[in-house]
Amino acid sequence: MVSKMEIITKIADIQYISQQIKKNGNTVGVVPTMGYLHKGHLSLIEKAKNETDKVITTLFVNPTQFAPNEDFDAYPRDFERDCNLAEDAGSDFIFAPETSEMYPKNFITSINIKGITSKFEGASRPNHFNGVALIVAKLFNATLPDVAVFGQKDLQQTLVIKALVRDLNFPIKIVIAPTMREANGLAMSSRNKYLSEENRKKAGIIFKALEDASHAIYRGEIERKRINAFLHKTLRTLPEIQIDYACAADADTFAEPEEFLPGENIALMIAVHLGKTRLIDNALVKIPSQLNDSNFIEGI
Ligand code: AMP
Repeated sequence: MVSKMEIITKIADIQYISQQIKKNGNTVGVVPTMGYLHKGHLSLIEKAKNETDKVITTLFVNPTQFAPNEDFDAYPRDFERDCNLAEDAGSDFIFAPETSEMYPKNFITSINIKGITSKFEGASRPNHFNGVALIVAKLFNATLPDVAVFGQKDLQQTLVIKALVRDLNFPIKIVIAPTMREANGLAMSSRNKYLSEENRKKAGIIFKALEDASHAIYRGEIERKRINAFLHKTLRTLPEIQIDYACAADADTFAEPEEFLPGENIALMIAVHLGKTRLIDNALVKIPSQLNDSNFIEGI
């Protein structure tokens, strides 16, 4: 099939294309991905298509966000399938540079984001978010978008990117799209490919834990440790799961007070190992401003 969508591999070429689109009075959206696309990625492309005239999907497995012991080499890749899926979802361009294009031999710059990166994924994966910030900054400068779409699935990453855009003055609107899930609640992820069929079914327990803790909050629970206990209790019903973290925190700052305040937005954050696969998920929940009957869910 002859593709309408163009595949670009050079930074100078995608910069020129983006500049021309904007010169013609149109807007550019970008969806950064590491490829091996699934419906979660495609929902971001569709969202970008609704927000802008031309969409660039980037495919780049970024070495600087993987630690040496992580799965950079094994990370699933399928370029042709990704191109077909992205085009069907409405992408106008694929930007898929070689590693040497993004990180030539004389590359010496880094970005260091503090505070929010010290917890959760940042604590488990030191330097991960600095690598994310670096590649996202480079992809922004390569694609020159008006709008960039990211998934809530990687909630901490969205905070990092908002900080990056604010602190380095990127004139880009950041849009966060909801997490796409399998029928059993498992958040879609390229890494789900590593799960056995049996573990894929069992991994629905992660969503169940988020639901159980959310219900406790809607019933009036405000004590952080007790909310955390709800997450742990449900996860522990599956003995083969190893919990990396399962915690509640303020959704904007990741502060962890003893008690949350009425009206506060809470992030429920989970990372677990199931078999050899590390899975992350999260939910955003608002502490009810007033406990009344409408906060009670289905007689729980
Ligand atoms: P990745 O290829 O894993 O780096 O992800 C690329 C983008 O897709 C990031 O903004 C992710 O947050 C987003 N994403 C990943 N999984 C999902 C999902 N299940 N639903 C929505 N967005 C997702």
